[in-house]
Amino acid sequence: MSRVYNFSAGPSMLPEEVLQIAASELLEYGSSGQSVMEMSHRTKEYEAIIHQTEADLREIMSIPDNYEVLFLQGGASTQFAMIPLNLMNKNNKADFVITGQWANKAYKEAARYGSARAVASSADKTYSYIPKTTAADFDPEADYVHICMNNTIYGTLYKNLPETGSVPLIADISSCILSEPIDVSKFGMLYAGAQKNLAPAGVTIVIVRKDLLGNAMDITPTMLNYVTHSENGSMFNTPPTYTIYMAGLVLKWIKKMGGLTAMKELNEKKAAILYNFLDNSKMFKGTVVPEDRSLMNVPFVTGNEELDKKFVAEAKEAGFINLKGHRSVGGMRASIYNAMPIEGVEKLVAFMQKFEEENM
Ligand SMILES: *Cc1c(COP(=O)(O)O)cnc(C)c1O
Repeated sequence: MSRVYNFSAGPSMLPEEVLQIAASELLEYGSSGQSVMEMSHRTKEYEAIIHQTEADLREIMSIPDNYEVLFLQGGASTQFAMIPLNLMNKNNKADFVITGQWANKAYKEAARYGSARAVASSADKTYSYIPKTTAADFDPEADYVHICMNNTIYGTLYKNLPETGSVPLIADISSCILSEPIDVSKFGMLYAGAQKNLAPAGVTIVIVRKDLLGNAMDITPTMLNYVTHSENGSMFNTPPTYTIYMAGLVLKWIKKMGGLTAMKELNEKKAAILYNFLDNSKMFKGTVVPEDRSLMNVPFVTGNEELDKKFVAEAKEAGFINLKGHRSVGGMRASIYNAMPIEGVEKLVAFMQKFEEENM
């Protein structure tokens, strides 16, 4: 078997070591006589798995005690509705910064439940930068301000958080969770679908300040109320048991790697290899302004669609898959999440160099 380097934006690579542990435990977890997949979520064994996963996430992200950690389903996309239903609850207003398609989807969904306002946008330049805002741009009466921290499609990252005064900041961290340390206490809520940097698809992590809960709109379906899940340890109904177990294995791997400070260092090293090459290439160039570049998603183009196509096809042949850019940007995108080994990036850059020499 030869495993490819998978640059997919998500679902994406998992650490090989994690897959090996999962394989070794597939038929029997511990001495339970069964696979985690077959286990009732109401057993001691499974409770230990979900509790340990939450404890490890809290430890790795230094999540303060006044925050709930919830394991939900429906992807980050379901949060686009759950957030307004649960949290747009005082003045029925919220502010949004539109830095890409996910931020825009969150904004549009919230507008179905209250007064959603787009405060700033980078649509004018295909979302290739993070618009600058000041505290004065935000409505002090808004129930929250929503941002997408790392823009998976366009490859921008918030490096300085917007100043929102006393208005709680909510961030979609689907594509940057666990990529570097984050000060949870600066946020009212953080959320992430798992399939970029944490686990296979199927679980959504919600980290929410406890004092914001308990005032959901009357129309909120029971399953979409955070309190339903916080009061039941994320076990009101059957949780995505196996995905949570896989998240637990990834968290143990991150601890072994040295935690988020070490992850950040490694991610910066990996991203620098690619960006340095792009900055010096005569054929390829990055599409994002240097100060807002993502550590996780790196879009680039040759400026020639035919050449882009040729590159993606030849890269695939060479074992570098899923490099085709999002249809709205074109060109290429290399997603280099935590599980992408540094050799994967080095080998990709060597391949790009060779392609450039052969096609200039
Ligand atoms: C992938 C992604 C989503 C959508 O996640 P789903 O789990 O598919 O709903 C939302 N926001 C960001 C930033 C993403 O990267």
